[in-house]
Amino acid sequence: MMFPYGVTRYADLLRTGLGRAEIEQLQLAGHIRRVRRGWYADPSAGSDVLRAVRLGGALSCLSALRHHGVWVPPTGQLHIRMSEHHQAKSALPADVHVCPLPIRSAPTVAVDPLATALLAAVRCLNGEGIVVVLDSILNLRLLRRDQLASILSGCAVRVRRLVAEADHRAESGTESMVRFRLRRLGVKVRSQVFIEDVGRVDLLVGKRLVIEVDSRAHHTGESTYQTDRRRDLVLVARGRLVLRFTYHQIVHEWDAVLKELRLLIRSEAHLRPRPRAA
Ligand SMILES: [Zn+2]
Repeated sequence: MMFPYGVTRYADLLRTGLGRAEIEQLQLAGHIRRVRRGWYADPSAGSDVLRAVRLGGALSCLSALRHHGVWVPPTGQLHIRMSEHHQAKSALPADVHVCPLPIRSAPTVAVDPLATALLAAVRCLNGEGIVVVLDSILNLRLLRRDQLASILSGCAVRVRRLVAEADHRAESGTESMVRFRLRRLGVKVRSQVFIEDVGRVDLLVGKRLVIEVDSRAHHTGESTYQTDRRRDLVLVARGRLVLRFTYHQIVHEWDAVLKELRLLIRSEAHLRPRPRAA
């Protein structure tokens, strides 16, 4: 028995043609188990989906987007949607966030579909977070830009404007974050730029400054380590400046990074033309 996201409603199980006795058999054999009244799980169900359903909600927003494969800004909370009526009756743990996109009645799905999860996320995220999510959706080709615009057409202008700012080339959320922040400083930044004899670099700031970012908290095998050093050599020898930021620097230490970046930008080092190749 395999349900989408590992969880399904009893009513939907009956709809597949199974009888009550067969469902009971599946349960006795350990193929499915009851999560709460009216909801069943197979062994593939993730702990976050199970938690959302047990609480009487649907996994949504950032937590659902993650299930759809989207890169989401780090959050220590479980993002769920639930009806106001149900919320009023429940004592929710501190790490559960009920996103401000209410459901009228009891949820009919365990995990919100992409469009619904996105509508919840734009209410929970700041501008940068929204661009991170939109970039990732475009990069994964889960939705096109016109579909994003249509889904978000009822949202505030500040949200709708961000659709134009999203970039399908961004290959990680950390890359999107750095691009967004540098643009807010008023510098010209391009994503995934091809440089001769090197290949694509994550970001090119001005004409000269190359920024490469780690996409994950724990990164780099030996081969990446070697490749990165070879690329740095070629880039620097040919007049570029290269900066590498770790996930930790981008997510947790940005103030310190920004302080130095401001110095670099003020000196216009990113704008200086490359020396002519000999
Ligand atoms: Zn949320």
